[in-house]
Amino acid sequence: MAFRSGFVCILGRPNAGKSTLLNALAGERLAIISPKPQTTRNRIQGILNIPKHGKRSGAQVILVDTPGVHKPDSSLGRKMMVEVHEALEGCDLILMLVDVTRKLSPEDNFALQLAQRAGTPVFLLLNKIDLVRDKKKLLPMIEAYHGMHDFREVIPLSGLKKEGLDTLLDAIVKILPQGPPYFPEDQITDQPARFMVAEIIRERVLLETKEEVPYATTVVVEQFEEGAKLVRIAAVIYCERDGQKAILVGKGGQMLKKIGTSARLNMERMLGSKVFLELFVKVQPGWRDSRAFVDELDWRRQLEGLIAPPGRAGHNR
Ligand code: GDP
Ligand code: MG
Repeated sequence: MAFRSGFVCILGRPNAGKSTLLNALAGERLAIISPKPQTTRNRIQGILNIPKHGKRSGAQVILVDTPGVHKPDSSLGRKMMVEVHEALEGCDLILMLVDVTRKLSPEDNFALQLAQRAGTPVFLLLNKIDLVRDKKKLLPMIEAYHGMHDFREVIPLSGLKKEGLDTLLDAIVKILPQGPPYFPEDQITDQPARFMVAEIIRERVLLETKEEVPYATTVVVEQFEEGAKLVRIAAVIYCERDGQKAILVGKGGQMLKKIGTSARLNMERMLGSKVFLELFVKVQPGWRDSRAFVDELDWRRQLEGLIAPPGRAGHNR
């Protein structure tokens, strides 16, 4: 049985459960997850090595998470939609994820249009079935979706409860093209540690703060030095107004300390090393609408030239 490999893109509106599914499939916490939309601002690639099993061939699946599909309303929003288009280009399969507890929205329609435009096979994944007691209630929904597109598979599942994942994996492996693995087997993600570190800090901010603060915040890692005994990291949390800065710093610096401590513990777990973390808060009014600033945040741009692009010869990605 020949080995198979390919890129699989997860598409769906904010909060459909894309990051949760990616993590459930990869068995590692790669993408950050929170109940607030727009948590995922960049593509995160989880690499899944599937052993040969019974009739199933061995395969390597490169999972591409996308920022939630939405109508862009700022420079950052537009950049996120560019990410979605880029992710769809050149992938072998699209997983369109919908939340069965919510009515079909214009955003779901928009996601489907993007998938159709890419001309790539699409699986429809009905997510969060753990929340539906009477599974018969899913039938009208499945019927409605069938009328919209010729989905290769329709699979009910729960990313959170890890239900239906085997069925999904079997179907994915079956549809992927034959080919050798793209990445070495011990690699679980191609994201540089520096970017993951920024995401860990942002996740802590999302969990600790409310209202507009999470959306007005972004993290830039200014120092990342791997020493023999510890990793030295300095990062800046950018926000848009003095009031937000006051919230992020907290009374007597308590909030920043809380964010810093839990972020550091998470980093130490991820890096398998002691971390010395310095965290700063700075105000940069209107950073979301500044193209220059948003571009500067792009870790790929920041790291250009430092990392050799992975992949195999002849594959135009
Ligand atoms: P994303 O924006 O599409 O990446 O969505 P997330 O993966 O961040 O999930 C959004 C919210 O939905 C989180 O609170 C998840 O815990 C929740 N969620 C995701 N998948 C499931 C599921 O299968 N069942 C239930 N009950 N909740 C889920
Ligand atoms: Mg996400």
